[in-house]
Amino acid sequence: LPSQIISVGVPVPGLGLLSYRVPSRLGEAFKGARVSVPLGHRVVTGCVVDPCASAPDNAEIRDVLQIIDPEPFLPPRVVDLALWVGAYYAAGPGDALAIAMPPAARRGERSAFRTVQRAELAGAAQAGPPRGARQRAALDLLRIRPGLTLQECVRQGVGVATMRSLVRHGLVTLREEIVERDPFASAGVDQPGSLWSVEAAPDDRRALTAEQTAVLRQLRDWAAAGHYRTALLHGVTGSGKTEVYLRLARAVTDAGRRVLVLVPEIGLTPVVAGLFRARFGLRVAIQHSGLSEGERHDQWHRIRRGEVDIVVGTRSAVFAPLERVGLIIVDEEHDAAYKQEETPRYHGRDVAIVRARLEAALALLGSATPSLESASNARRGRYAHLVLTRRIFDRPLADVEVVDMRREYAAHGADVVLSERLAARLEERLERGEQSVLLLNRRGFASVIFCRQCGASLECPHCSVALTYHRAARRMRCHYCNYAAAVPARCGACGGEYLEQSGFGTERIEHEVRARFPTARVARVDRDTIRRRGALARVLREVGRGAVDVLIGTQMIAKGHDFPAVTLAGVIAADVGLGLADFRAAERTFQLLTQVLGRAGRGDAPGQAVVQTLYPDHYAIRAAAAQDYDAFFRRELEFRSSLHYPPATALINVFVKGRSLERAMADALDLATRVRQHQPQGRVIGPAPAALSKIKDEYRAQFFVKGSRRTAMREAVQRALEERPDLRRRTVVDVDPISVI
Ligand code: ADP
Ligand code: ZN
Repeated sequence: LPSQIISVGVPVPGLGLLSYRVPSRLGEAFKGARVSVPLGHRVVTGCVVDPCASAPDNAEIRDVLQIIDPEPFLPPRVVDLALWVGAYYAAGPGDALAIAMPPAARRGERSAFRTVQRAELAGAAQAGPPRGARQRAALDLLRIRPGLTLQECVRQGVGVATMRSLVRHGLVTLREEIVERDPFASAGVDQPGSLWSVEAAPDDRRALTAEQTAVLRQLRDWAAAGHYRTALLHGVTGSGKTEVYLRLARAVTDAGRRVLVLVPEIGLTPVVAGLFRARFGLRVAIQHSGLSEGERHDQWHRIRRGEVDIVVGTRSAVFAPLERVGLIIVDEEHDAAYKQEETPRYHGRDVAIVRARLEAALALLGSATPSLESASNARRGRYAHLVLTRRIFDRPLADVEVVDMRREYAAHGADVVLSERLAARLEERLERGEQSVLLLNRRGFASVIFCRQCGASLECPHCSVALTYHRAARRMRCHYCNYAAAVPARCGACGGEYLEQSGFGTERIEHEVRARFPTARVARVDRDTIRRRGALARVLREVGRGAVDVLIGTQMIAKGHDFPAVTLAGVIAADVGLGLADFRAAERTFQLLTQVLGRAGRGDAPGQAVVQTLYPDHYAIRAAAAQDYDAFFRRELEFRSSLHYPPATALINVFVKGRSLERAMADALDLATRVRQHQPQGRVIGPAPAALSKIKDEYRAQFFVKGSRRTAMREAVQRALEERPDLRRRTVVDVDPISVI
């Protein structure tokens, strides 16, 4: 009998598919099943990609050790999707297949459900002879409350030994039952009175606006057509995009197909999932890395068993094992969080589009500030383009005032954090009992500590960045490697004893607001305050129920939340991100400002906004203040085209790390030279030291590959790495990078 030869993806970076023989005693291995295979001296868990491969010539072929799943673990389409990701992002198939699985499954563990044993009376118990007192008590308990779990019986005073003996005598039976570990419960989704509880959720019957109706009609037709299409829904903040998603999802599930909903942040999953849960009941699952491993496992298997019509999750949910997908929604499609910043460096939105093509489904990208990529694809006709230009009930967008902080500094000194204007607006809100949000996209108390004598600033010993002062913790900290230390008494460079702080972060804003408005109820949201799971959801719930007057935070507070009582949005230093050496700096700033300004005035009272900046004339700040997306898009596209950056050009960013900057530069130069030879028609720019030239004790050199043919560009990089395998572990290849610093 000829034996089965399979090709397998194994989770080893940069390794291609491998062939193995399946000994006939193991049975048949299907596409998508996991197998244990020998690799060198190790045993690894791989995934079958091709169940009838042909044996490679002249290579010795080894045997599969074990078929872990008798049936496909990953649906075949998800296998194909992962293979595309592995190839496109130059990562190799195994790494991409691994992210399509829940964590325990990657380690080769068999599915592990949590079970309980429920006790019930057996027939004999009714007529049985009288037993001892303990057994009688146990039988009485089960008579009143049949189906108690063993644990519950113990809590009611019935010992395990008693139960065992009743089981042995055939008087009680134990039934094993799977308990779902339910992330909805731990996220508070179904809790009465919570912001996203079922009662609070708006119902299916309210009238849509004319714009919503038109957009929905079009989208329904496209979804029903049963072939692939991508549509961009550009809707201003508060225009009711979520309602469109919900109704469209209803049409798709009514037609017997399933829906995938991607959101950028873990913090937004419970909000969006709650809305879907309220409309679609239990046939909704969530998938994201913030779930416990058990919850993730159970949710994944519910999806895999076909018990779910709608999956809501962050980027990795794009690999959810759903079948018959008819619609993939990517909410806030412009958000950088869709990009995974480790191997495989995939972009959730772009993978969603590829999946929609594989599934012959509709991909719907929604945003108030579409990425340059999506907006230009829409303008060039590659995506359909739909717009919602007005807010619900024609509520006006916030009235924006721009404060030039150079004047403020001239008048009141360089120490000013809250401008006169912003402080006055805040005070009005507090008097009227309305809410405010204040954005500063930098955490900590002071962003630099420097010596007044020699001017040196305190840098992280492991990274080329200044240390941030955290007042509550009384420490200075590195935001890249988490190094922390007490502030020294003297300057390390000159011994001077006058160390001063400058620059400010969210912690300082909180301090200022509390000092100025002692009775205000203030909450702060940044990575320092919401370390613990569920902490963000808790603060947002407090804001939602009106227990917070002023919400201060980093970009986390800008996204997606719908708080009708917020009437003031303040931006403390609108230009924080503009100084970064990144070609997306202006786009990020524009998006962040537009999003945060969009938080104000979503209820009955109109909104106001104050934007503090040192560069009131910068086009990103002007366009955001005027809420003029088209103006921004034109300027920014011009800039990208003239400097050959995406979306005008395809871009691959390559970092080479080394023990010293000289070493990193020399290796990067060698690699760049090889890439140039392999791809004469593309352009290779660099190498140069990276903007952050040292992170975690590693020096980083960087070069760009630019051109119009991505595949050729990627293959040139891969060939160069094949010639220098010693550099593979020190090289990061980022295809379509979101950030290049
Ligand atoms: P976006 O996501 O576009 O910023 P949302 O979907 O959050 O906007 O909608 C803004 C607010 O308007 C929400 O409170 C939502 O419940 C409400 N809303 C949406 N559609 C309607 C409608 N047709 N009638 C009344 N209220 C609506
Ligand atoms: Zn550091």
